[in-house]
Order: sequence, then structure tokens, then C-alpha cells
Amino acid sequence: MVVVNQARLKNHILKLATFRDVRDEGVTRYAFTPEYEEASKYVEELMKDAGLAVHRDALGNLIGKKRGSGEMKGKIITGSHIDTVRQGGMFDGTLGVLGAIEAVKTLEESGIMLDKDVEVCAFVDEEVSALGSRAYAGVELPDRFLRRLEEKGYTLEEFESCRQELKEDDCFLELHIEQGRVLEEHGMQIGEVDSILASVNYEGTAYGRADHAGATPMTLRKDAFMQLADFAERFRELVLAEEGTVGTIGNVVVTPGIRNVIPGRASFVMEIRTPDESAIPRIEKVLRKEFGKEQVCFERTAYYKSAIMADEMSLVIQEVSEMLGLRHERIHSGAGHDTQSFADKVKAGMIFVPSVDGISHSAAEMTSWEDCSNGANVLANTIIKLGQKRYKGNGGKE
Ligand SMILES: [Zn+2]
Repeated sequence: MVVVNQARLKNHILKLATFRDVRDEGVTRYAFTPEYEEASKYVEELMKDAGLAVHRDALGNLIGKKRGSGEMKGKIITGSHIDTVRQGGMFDGTLGVLGAIEAVKTLEESGIMLDKDVEVCAFVDEEVSALGSRAYAGVELPDRFLRRLEEKGYTLEEFESCRQELKEDDCFLELHIEQGRVLEEHGMQIGEVDSILASVNYEGTAYGRADHAGATPMTLRKDAFMQLADFAERFRELVLAEEGTVGTIGNVVVTPGIRNVIPGRASFVMEIRTPDESAIPRIEKVLRKEFGKEQVCFERTAYYKSAIMADEMSLVIQEVSEMLGLRHERIHSGAGHDTQSFADKVKAGMIFVPSVDGISHSAAEMTSWEDCSNGANVLANTIIKLGQKRYKGNGGKE
């Protein structure tokens, strides 16, 4: 069992947070910007210091490799992203990259030789398109991300050149902050993720008739906003009936948006996230049946299928957490992650640590240094269990 250097990990996280757009509060570090480039150079140096041979692909993914003895087939790929949302925090993504570097550095300092190769990656543009991990894993790009690729000055050939060969014995591991409140509420220190929820996005419009707000009695009205309110109430009931499912309606724009005219239209966006993809058509069907097209119309604009983690990866994470005396539980991820690019291709696992008050994508995002190092400890020891022959890499059974 190894233990990472918490003070060193903390210093690296604090330092990386200084590479940002200084005009904004919190950390704003979009991919393909000068501040991202600076951050990337810093991470590259840390990778080299941890004994990794670093390669930067055509899109700017950083890949640090360390050879094992070769006695076991396959490689352990671990990492996350260092881009952020606007005014984000210093832990989202970053912990998975710097925690992985810290884990590898700790293995080196402890004189531990692995029988498998290890790779630490910092994938570009996770927060917008996950271009980096999609390119690495050879996941096809939907049209809108193809446009983003081109906007950023890259070609499809360059994207395709980043593809790495993934083999049956390879696996992917990502350490990440939870970005929700479940672990904290349950008093847990580690979450072994079993799935990343499927998610579907919609755009919709509720229709009514824009009449005089004084001269039209309630019985004669067709109020688009009230129609949408009924729809939203029903949506909430249907979502609540599906276990583990969440649904949100936002960006409601009422037209005309004035006090003395009954709304004629109300446009909105909507999203469903669920561990059970069959819940999505069930909810849609009831809504379409109860609200005709002339009342409320909604169409899918994006669909992300769920990603299921490999049970054997979750089991190793679980065993390692127990070995380290950490309270842990199985958990879904409601947020999307680079792991989604890998889950269909290789055995994948995710390690979550608590977010204070569940706050993320905000300058107030916080994870205690203790929890950061707990996560890196679980990652380091999971890498050992998966990558040393004496553990046979088979669910951690010695
Ligand atoms: Zn993230």
C-alpha cells in the first residue's frame, strides 16, 4: 500500500489554478487558449518529473507513458481534463490529472515496478465537446463537434491521427470530484461509480393565443405559459416515477413577455438524465399523448447514451478503499466525463471524492485536501492492484 504526498498534490493544484483568464473570477481556462497552453506546459513538466515520457498529439492531448516490466498485457490509462467552464473551480478535471501524476510519482518514489504500462492523460476540451478523449479512443464526432473542431482550426485528419490503439487488456481509470452532494450527505469519502447517466436534450415550445390580459376572461384564455406550467408539473411527476432519473426545464422565454398580454408562446429547453435509457421514451410518450403538438411541441437536440463501468474495476476500487480504511459506496454519475469515451472500448472505472456542499462549475467549488489525497491514494493503489502480476489484475484477488 502506498500513500501519496498530500502537500505536493495541494501545491500542484494551487499552482495550476493560476493559469487562467485573469479577467474572470474563479478559474476560466478554455481549451485552445494561451492560458490553456501555459497550463499544459506546466502539466507536461510535472509528468516528466514523475518519470513519464510525454507525447503531445495533434489536438494537444498530453499523454505521459511509463513502461512496465511487460509481464502483463495491456496498459492502464488514467487521466481527466484541465480545461474548465467559465468561472469554474480548481478541482474539476484537474484532480484526475494531477492526482494521477502524483500517484505515478509516488509509485516511483516507493520503488514499485508495474508489470503493465501506465499512461497519464490530460484530454483537451472536455467541458465543451470531449474532443480530446473522443480522438484518443476513436469515438465518432457528432456534427456539432465536427464544426467545433473546424472552428478551432483542426481537420478531421488531425482528429483521427490522435487515435490510439485500444486492446482487450487495456483499462481506463478516472479520478474526479463528485460535483454533487450524495457522498457528503451519506458521510462517504469515496464513490465507486457504476454508471454515467444517459442524457437527452430537447428544445420545445408551448403554444397559446396572445390576447388582451384585461378583456379576456380566464375561461376563454389560451395561455402558453400556463400550458407550459401544466406540462412542467406532469414532467416532474413522470421523472419522479423513474428511479434515479432527473429532469430539468430551463430557459423559458415567454412571448410577448409583457404584463398586459396573455403569452402566445413559451419556448424552453429540457433535459432528462437517467440510469435506465428505457425511461426516456416512456416519459416522452406520456407527454406527447397528454399534450398535443398544437399545445406543447418538443424535439430532441442531443442524445448521450449511458456509460457502464466494468464491475471488476469497481470491485478493485472498493477493495482498495477498504484497505485504506475509507468509507465508500457505489454511486451514479449525473455529470458527463472523459470516461464516456472509453467505457464501450475497454474496462472503465471512476473514483469520486466529495464536493463540499455539492458545488461545482463555480468559483466556490471545493474538495478538502484530505479528500483529494484520499482519491489519489485510491487511484495509486488501484493502479498497483491492476498492474502487478501478483494481484493478477483480476479484481484484486491475490
Ligand atoms: Zn470534469
